[in-house]
Formats: sequence, C-alpha cells, structure tokens
Amino acid sequence: MSLDRIFSNIAGYMEQYLVLPVLFHFHWMAWGDLAFDWCLICVYGLFAVLLTYAVCVPLEYWYPVERWPDRKAVLVDVFYTLLNRVGVVPVITFVLFYHVQTWTTGFLVERGFIPPTLESLIPFLLGRPLLTFLIYALILDFAEYWRHRLSHSFRWWYALHALHHAQRQMSFWSDDRNHLIDDIISFLWFFVIGLIINIPPVQFPLLVLGLKFIESLSHANIRLSFGPLEWLIVSPRFHRFHHGLRAAGRNSCNYASVFPVWDVLFRTADFQDKYLPTGDARAPEALVTGSYVTQQVTGLKLFWQALGKSWASLGIGRAA
Ligand SMILES: [Zn+2]
Ligand SMILES: [Zn+2]
Repeated sequence: MSLDRIFSNIAGYMEQYLVLPVLFHFHWMAWGDLAFDWCLICVYGLFAVLLTYAVCVPLEYWYPVERWPDRKAVLVDVFYTLLNRVGVVPVITFVLFYHVQTWTTGFLVERGFIPPTLESLIPFLLGRPLLTFLIYALILDFAEYWRHRLSHSFRWWYALHALHHAQRQMSFWSDDRNHLIDDIISFLWFFVIGLIINIPPVQFPLLVLGLKFIESLSHANIRLSFGPLEWLIVSPRFHRFHHGLRAAGRNSCNYASVFPVWDVLFRTADFQDKYLPTGDARAPEALVTGSYVTQQVTGLKLFWQALGKSWASLGIGRAA
C-alpha cells in the first residue's frame, strides 16, 4: 500500500469517527465537505513531525554540538511544534487559503480576468510538477528571507523575534518557537505571496511541510555541515551561526530558511566552519526558560516597550 493511501485511510478514520460527529453535534455540518482535507493535513503534519523526529533524534544523540545536563528548556519547544504543525494552525491556514483563493479566483474570473499560474506563464513547466514545485518553493523562500531579515532590522519586530533567539538549548524542536504576533505576521506574509503567485491550494500545505522539514533540521543540535554544498541547502551549521550568541540582535547573518543562495546574493552569508553557543545575551530569563504563557506575555511586553521607543523616535506620542 502506498504512503498516500495509508495517509488517506487514517484521515478517513479521523473524519468518520472524530471530526464529523463533532461537527454534527455543534450543527456545523456546513464545514463537512472540508473535514477530510482537515484530517489529511493533520495526518501529514503528524507524519512530518515523526519523520523529523526519526531523522534528528539519532543525529542529535550521536553528533551533538552540546550535551546538556537536563533538557527541561527543550520541552516548551516541543509544545510550540505540536501546536504549529499538527494542531489547529495548519488547519486554519489551509481552510483560509482555500477559501480566499477560491473567492479571489472566482471574483477575477467573473470580471473576465483569468489569474495566471506559473505553468500558464512558463509553458515549459507544464507536465513538470516537480520543477514547478521547486520554483514555488524558491519564491516562498525568497519572501521568507526578506521577512526574516526585516524582523532583525526593526526594533519592535526584533522584540518579538527575540523569543526565537532566546533559546540556549537549541534543538530541532526550536523552529516553531515564535511569538504569536510574529507567527501571525509570518502567516499573512506567506499567505499573500502564495495568493499572488497563485499556488494551487492543495500544494500549499505540502510546500509548507517540505520547507518546514529543512527548517527543523537546520535548528538541530547536530555538528553537521554540507561541506561544498553549504550554499545549496541551509544546514544545521549555517543556521546555528545565525543563532550564535554574538550574532543575536539586529545585525546578524545567514537569514535564509531553506536556500542560502539569498544570503549569498544579498551579501549576508557567513560560511565559517564554526559551531557557536546559541542564545540572546540581552533576552530576559523569562523569555528563555519561562513557560509558553510566560514567554508570550514577556514577548508582548517587550514588543509594547519597543513600539513606544519607535514611536518616540518618530516624534509620535510626545506630549502636546
Ligand atoms: Zn533570526
Ligand atoms: Zn532559527
């Protein structure tokens, strides 16, 4: 039985015995048509987490950069990952993307405009789904490079992103460790780019999963670089340099999530073969070892303070 078929079967069971009864109970059957897709996304998400786990756990055990006396600080990152990859977030992402994309396409077609797809713009791509998929991935990753780089450039934005950098025990679980507001900004950013380049709704969650696998691996506590291929895919060494204690803050390097080519092109790449300790020396301890809620609240406070400073420097909010 193919993997696809196994996923569909599991999703089918979930739909039949879990989701449909809940929808029925709350009189939400209008959503029934999408129930199977929701389940499939959860199953894919769970599979992606398990795959990442199966690849990274042995590597972190055999080739760690650091060995920690206890791994308590890692636990909160596990929570972030499950919430973001298997929980409600991917379902909301998909449902929203599906609806907004169907609505905008319908709106435009009614007015006589057929939105172009990558294949209609570049006919060479017709019948080459893998290449098309790769180009979509490159475009999304380019957008991600600039989002990440900008999040280091603005005081208020870095105040949020500091939560991601605060982790001293960085592991493959750390990728999703982000402030909720930062997550919403990333989501909207990704979402709008996905709409502009007209990604087919079914490919969107798959693209996200594929890119996320590389991102998780790049956070792993593994002494691993891709040697002469370091410029091709972001390695744990490459991204660790971005998280290096000295690099943390508003001037950093190695911003790319998946393809380091953006750092090479925009001159922010650093290929030194070093494995630095990670963290942000200026981050308050609550942001480092606090619970999920403590981290979110502390992040919000820092964000608010930074906004105040940014406004003050613009001359907004001064006493009249
Ligand atoms: Zn960063
Ligand atoms: Zn990171």
